[in-house]
Amino acid sequence: MKTPDVQIAQTEMEALVYDRGLLTSPRPSVDREKLQEHLREVLRLLHVNLEDEAVVDTPRRWAESLVTMTSGYDYTDVKKLTTLFRKACTAADENCQNLVVIGGTYKTLCAHHILPFFGQFIIGYIPERTIIGASKIPRIVEVHMRRLQSQEHLAHDIADTIEKIVEPKGIAVWMGGVHLCMVMRGVEQESSFMETNVLRGNFLSDDRTRQEFMSIVNRRGDRA
Ligand SMILES: [Zn+2]
Repeated sequence: MKTPDVQIAQTEMEALVYDRGLLTSPRPSVDREKLQEHLREVLRLLHVNLEDEAVVDTPRRWAESLVTMTSGYDYTDVKKLTTLFRKACTAADENCQNLVVIGGTYKTLCAHHILPFFGQFIIGYIPERTIIGASKIPRIVEVHMRRLQSQEHLAHDIADTIEKIVEPKGIAVWMGGVHLCMVMRGVEQESSFMETNVLRGNFLSDDRTRQEFMSIVNRRGDRA
């Protein structure tokens, strides 16, 4: 039997589908020198002592981490992405209604403060004709989390992409995360945990399907 995972990726894009490692991109289009220069200026404006040994190399490190954490912007060709991920799809069993559920973790930067927020996701969908390989869902999450995001937008972006690839009868994306912009800027800590729930198709029209998904979401703590 042919497994797409063992194929050799020809391009960055294909690496998204075939590789098991982290999604990284060399991003030659980003002017690192200029970025470092500006970040050094940011530190200077904040009265940080740039002579300090601990800070000397910070503009370069800061620039590199920003380049990595925004590498999702390199994958803007939705059509190409969809085609590639479709290669990782198999036929669904038409004789029964399956609820496919995949969970994992995410980490991203908030678009308002460029501070991290991170947590867990649980994605469920009811296949119509196709099922995407379970390891590809975290890939799709990764493309979208490596951009400046809000939890709401992130959940909708992920749902949009999976809908385009799998064309399911319904899709649900639950995300729960801790937002450092709430923790670190002196806002009440209790409100730093946020939940987002995107429900579409069968998850909206069918109570049982929605309840089944929500019971999986609510049991997530038991599995930890
Ligand atoms: Zn924020």
